[in-house]
Amino acid sequence: MKKNIVKNGIQLLAILLLGYGTLMAQHNHGSHNHGGSSQSHQPPHGGQMKEAGKYQIEMVTNLFLKKDQLSFYLLKSNLKPISNEGITGTITIEYKDGSTITDTLLANGDDHFVAQLKKTEPFTCTLKIQVKGKIVSAVFSHSGLGSNTANVYTCSMHPEIKQDKPGTCPKCGMKLIEK
Ligand SMILES: [Zn+2]
Repeated sequence: MKKNIVKNGIQLLAILLLGYGTLMAQHNHGSHNHGGSSQSHQPPHGGQMKEAGKYQIEMVTNLFLKKDQLSFYLLKSNLKPISNEGITGTITIEYKDGSTITDTLLANGDDHFVAQLKKTEPFTCTLKIQVKGKIVSAVFSHSGLGSNTANVYTCSMHPEIKQDKPGTCPKCGMKLIEK
């Protein structure tokens, strides 16, 4: 009787170990996949990304919410955003007409900076960001916020629906009209 209990106990332990081993294998597999995807160089906010010293700077233009606003993220080499606390910077925007405007980057949220565009035409901008006593810089070009990118399509019944290309309303299926 006692022998049987011990035997059952060993069997149970074996089953547990087997289960644990399977779990560990799955976990390792999962973390391996995750590691693989973080190696990719996709901009985390869907913007343009440039190397700046040991950092990356990402420029994001949110044409629908804030048409004339540029957002910038300072990213570590693993593409994690760095807190904007204590970090300062300037932006020099050179428009296609030759005019150049230099502004201070404004900290926004806790991990990015914003700058305002004054014109809708194509531009090149140079960022200089001071981080840990060093200045890192990057240059971006953009086709501007005018003409084609400024188009907004909306539903005559649902004005909250807005997109940048023709299509149908996801709420009622009507053809979207250009605003
Ligand atoms: Zn609709």
